[in-house]
Amino acid sequence: MGLATLRRLVQETLSGALGLLYPPECALCGRPLNDDLPQGPSGFLCEGCQQELGRERLKPPYCVRCGEPLPPSGIDLCRGCALGRVPFERARSYGLYEGRLARLVRLFKYHKEPALAGALSSLLAEVVAREGLEFEGITYVPLGRRRLRERGFNPAERLARALGKLCGKPVFPALRKARETVPQEALSRRERLLNLRGSFAPLGRARCESVLLVDDVYTTGATVRECASVLREAGYERVFVVTVARTPHPRSSPAERGSPEEVEA
Ligand SMILES: [Zn+2]
Ligand SMILES: [Zn+2]
Repeated sequence: MGLATLRRLVQETLSGALGLLYPPECALCGRPLNDDLPQGPSGFLCEGCQQELGRERLKPPYCVRCGEPLPPSGIDLCRGCALGRVPFERARSYGLYEGRLARLVRLFKYHKEPALAGALSSLLAEVVAREGLEFEGITYVPLGRRRLRERGFNPAERLARALGKLCGKPVFPALRKARETVPQEALSRRERLLNLRGSFAPLGRARCESVLLVDDVYTTGATVRECASVLREAGYERVFVVTVARTPHPRSSPAERGSPEEVEA
């Protein structure tokens, strides 16, 4: 076999492999994507699905602190934030955990489509820009060792790393799981807090004053609150939180609390 033939074979195999990894079709509706069709975030979505996602974007009024959607009453803090101390400056999400956004998150987390981190992180970048969040570095909610082995990757870390590239900010681990916790989905709000208490530990001292904490879904906020508290104790003065989605009204009914989709760290 000549050198030229060998080179062509290698090229064909490589482009074949890349084609398998990144099939040129919309991740949500399967419509073929081609170059003359305007494509969505990072080329993963067709224009129609991109527009639908845009319509799912959370709009005010929401709590200025935790981002919980509020009825249009002129009050800018939710009850929880008005009553208690919140360890983060602001938590924001792109949209509610429903519709196309929920499907996209599920594809990313449970069907091992880590390449979708590109599409989802561009939604996070949009939230960061829209909210004018200012921070020096980016970190993420860690996974326990067992969960990491089961899943093969940490979705929050993938999102954080992809977002770091988009924002040009350093991404680093700042937390570790100090112990394995029972999955959060079967627990009440209060049990979740108790389950998580002491379950995260800092990785060294703070690297900067302000940090952005990334996670995929904000459910009751128990995980990000606990993480933000540990970050504050480690010396980060300001902690911002951004997630792709948030569960609609997690406190409204006990039935919704047990959403099978949520597997918190
Ligand atoms: Zn589509
Ligand atoms: Zn709030």
